[in-house]
Amino acid sequence: MTTLSGKTALVTGSTSGIGLGIALSLAKAGANLILNGFGDASTVIAEVEQFGGKVGHHPADVSDPAQIAEMLAYAEREFGGVDILVNNAGIQHVAAVEDFPVERWDSIIAINLSSVFHSTRLSLPGMRAKGWGRIVNIASVHGQVGSVGKAAYVAAKHGVIGLTKVVGLETATSNVTCNAICPGWVLTPLVQKQIDARAAAGVDPQQAQHDLLAEKQPSLEFVTPPQLGELVLFLCSEAGSQVRGAAWNIDGGWLAQ
Ligand code: NAD
Repeated sequence: MTTLSGKTALVTGSTSGIGLGIALSLAKAGANLILNGFGDASTVIAEVEQFGGKVGHHPADVSDPAQIAEMLAYAEREFGGVDILVNNAGIQHVAAVEDFPVERWDSIIAINLSSVFHSTRLSLPGMRAKGWGRIVNIASVHGQVGSVGKAAYVAAKHGVIGLTKVVGLETATSNVTCNAICPGWVLTPLVQKQIDARAAAGVDPQQAQHDLLAEKQPSLEFVTPPQLGELVLFLCSEAGSQVRGAAWNIDGGWLAQ
């Protein structure tokens, strides 16, 4: 098992869903954790603290570069910097491109793409100075293929994969790696909203869930946050040290079609 004791991980958007699953896996492997995200963080902090490492929460809204900078300054002050950066915070909005609200476009690009640039540029100098670092960007299958109604999300996730490749190249001769993970459907609040929207249109909720999977994900099963956490641990391990600039699918076969 990968031991990350002595390392500090920052996981953006870790008060829920995938980010929380990844934070729990990293904490279980011994890392100190800086959580981030909206909502009451006290329950989540207690859940992560059970593994014995130091745990903090910073409430930065990652759509704001100044708040990201404050979060990284907090990490430096309280934890001695960030060794593992998991850029996970993300939102979704579904609408046809000609109806897409401009402010939703702007916030999806800011949260799902620009925040990855800002946290990366602010974390990299510290990782280089320490001679080790891992950057893992939670992209999506939608970083590699499109789906109707998801213009901003698909554009942002394609951008995340492009940024990952560049950072992977710029760090290629160092002990810092940068990779993207591309999940298919994971049953989190972000996806539950899409199931609920189908149910609101009159489809039985169980049927709505089945239809969502059947349209895209051949396994007909959701990917789980602990599975994504294990993949992050692999990328943090010595065995993962030559995975660089990759976009790694974990999608029940979605992209094999
Ligand atoms: P979620 O809605 O369960 O969690 C999102 C997290 O991000 C929450 O902690 C929320 O508070 C936080 N967040 C949202 N806006 C923020 C902001 N402006 N600043 C700081 N934190 C913010 O979503 P999820 O499904 O766990 O998604 C996590 C990531 O995984 C996203 O980047 C998403 O695009 C990606 N993803 C999800 C799926 C899926 O099927 N659920 C598939 C592929 C990729």
